[in-house]
Amino acid sequence: MKQTGAALGLAVEWLKNCKSLFVLTGAGVSKESGIPTFRDALEGLWANYNPEQLATPEGFRKNPSLVWQWYDSRRQKVKDVVPNPGHFALAELQKMVPEFFLCTQNVDGLHIRAGSSDVVEIHGSISRFKCFDNGHVQTEVPYDLKDPPLCECGSLVRPDVVWFNEPMPEKLLKQSFTAAEKADVALVVGTSGLVYPAASLPFHAKQSGAKIIEVNPNRTELTDSCDLFLAGPSGEVLPQLVEGLK
Ligand SMILES: [Zn+2]
Repeated sequence: MKQTGAALGLAVEWLKNCKSLFVLTGAGVSKESGIPTFRDALEGLWANYNPEQLATPEGFRKNPSLVWQWYDSRRQKVKDVVPNPGHFALAELQKMVPEFFLCTQNVDGLHIRAGSSDVVEIHGSISRFKCFDNGHVQTEVPYDLKDPPLCECGSLVRPDVVWFNEPMPEKLLKQSFTAAEKADVALVVGTSGLVYPAASLPFHAKQSGAKIIEVNPNRTELTDSCDLFLAGPSGEVLPQLVEGLK
């Protein structure tokens, strides 16, 4: 969908004058690379399971192998896809504004693969691992294991993602709120604004005086609170923004 000139032009103008840009991305951006959202991925073999069984500390305690295999399948999926033009546009945008902060709710690492640096992965990463009991960082965890490996301390290893019923990493959350506060423009991309506390970041930016630009294919819970809504997939809209800034 080609953007109408007026809205896109205004967004470009705001970005041109922007000294500090805060970006929040969500599942919509990953979906455009072919990664189904968590709930959409509950199909086939996984159709009979729910997030409580697959993505909570309680679920892991109850059936570590099941949770391990679920994340192994997600990790395999991520390995087989590539970043899309929206990811690449954000990596370019980072070089075009004086201060840039990217907070993502996605755990697939695609922003980093597209060249973004200092990405704050607020929900963790499925490519990183730690032990369940003590959080010891693990390296070189192979694919296709049926059961979670053991840490040197004897604890089971788990993916380093934030599960339901778990708090977000405090340090990253604090960094994100500070950046949102400082921003003069906030860009919200591919997220419906339903997952708290990440969803409150754009509102925090707005309260501190930032203009909010939302990029989503359809209107969301956030839209009415945004200053500008750019309708369309991020892979189409973001490259147009970057083009406008050149
Ligand atoms: Zn350990």
